[in-house]
Amino acid sequence: MTEPTPPASNGARALPAPAISFEFFPPKTEEMEKSLWETIKRLAPLAPNFVSVTYGAGGSTRERTHATIARILSETALVPAAHLTCVDARCADVDDVVSRYYEVGVRHIVALRGDPAGGIGAAYTPHPEGYRSSADLVASIKRRHGDIEVTVSAYPEKHPESASFDADIDMLKAKVDAGATRAITQFFFDNDLYFRYLERVRSRGINIPIVPGILPVQNFKQAANFAKRAGASVPGWLAQKFEGLDDDPETRKLVAAAVAAGQVQKLAKHGVETFHFYTMNRADLVFAISHLLGIRPKGTKNGAQEAA
Ligand code: FAD
Repeated sequence: MTEPTPPASNGARALPAPAISFEFFPPKTEEMEKSLWETIKRLAPLAPNFVSVTYGAGGSTRERTHATIARILSETALVPAAHLTCVDARCADVDDVVSRYYEVGVRHIVALRGDPAGGIGAAYTPHPEGYRSSADLVASIKRRHGDIEVTVSAYPEKHPESASFDADIDMLKAKVDAGATRAITQFFFDNDLYFRYLERVRSRGINIPIVPGILPVQNFKQAANFAKRAGASVPGWLAQKFEGLDDDPETRKLVAAAVAAGQVQKLAKHGVETFHFYTMNRADLVFAISHLLGIRPKGTKNGAQEAA
């Protein structure tokens, strides 16, 4: 497959080595919490721009997301970004969550609509007293706290609910007009999809950074499952690379590192300067891929040594 001629830049600031950010999910158990903090300790010295923590469907992890963000703020020098969805919630409750974040010092929110309770594919109906769309949520956050940076989602293969790419990009445009200054993409495995999407977005006059979301495939079956739910395609060549490795985690890990490293190195070669990693709360693959991008630990200043 040949790469198309991509746009000169993804709109992010120029840096000698790419800038990175990491996404975590809030742990459910003590054991998961311990493992997340080992991951944070390992990745923090790579000095990411920010680390984000997801928000469970319909606010199901509201307290755990808050607790994880608060601990990152109090125990590390990392900059946290809190994900927040507005589905199935009253505006007043969503605003409370934002205010609580603001009070503890959070200045970056990843603002999302979220999936309807019936899952992707079910019709989305805004809560009668809720925000009507993610763009409304962005506008409200900016109106109430102008100094909160707002990041939003973007979909290189369009969101499964979008009637067309144009409709999908209309929503991105509305979110940018409401004050979003960065978008992170749904994961994708074929770089052409990202470059084509970027062309579409730029041709609509949207100039914010569209940061590629990279999912290192820790477990092919699980990733294929995620992809199905998220409306992301899984190329045949990817399935082939993991064929026969279901019971061979060691080889799977090596293959996963090679695949993700190949993807990010090609993106970087074509001018992509920032990457967001879906870490799945695990450090090893993401650390190795960052290393291959030329990113080295920055000592202890930003790092986990400060995290107990
Ligand atoms: P939007 O950007 O508001 O909409 C996506 C597209 O769907 C639009 O372009 C539009 O064309 C179409 N659309 C939206 N509303 C309608 C409508 N009413 N009718 C028809 N079409 C419509 N989910 C979580 O629960 N927690 C998280 O922490 C989380 N983090 C995420 C982070 C990233 C980077 C990404 C890419 C996704 C994340 N999601 C998360 C998933 C997200 O909540 C779902 O994809 C959800 O279905 C859409 O929310 P959104 O804000 O991306 O949608």
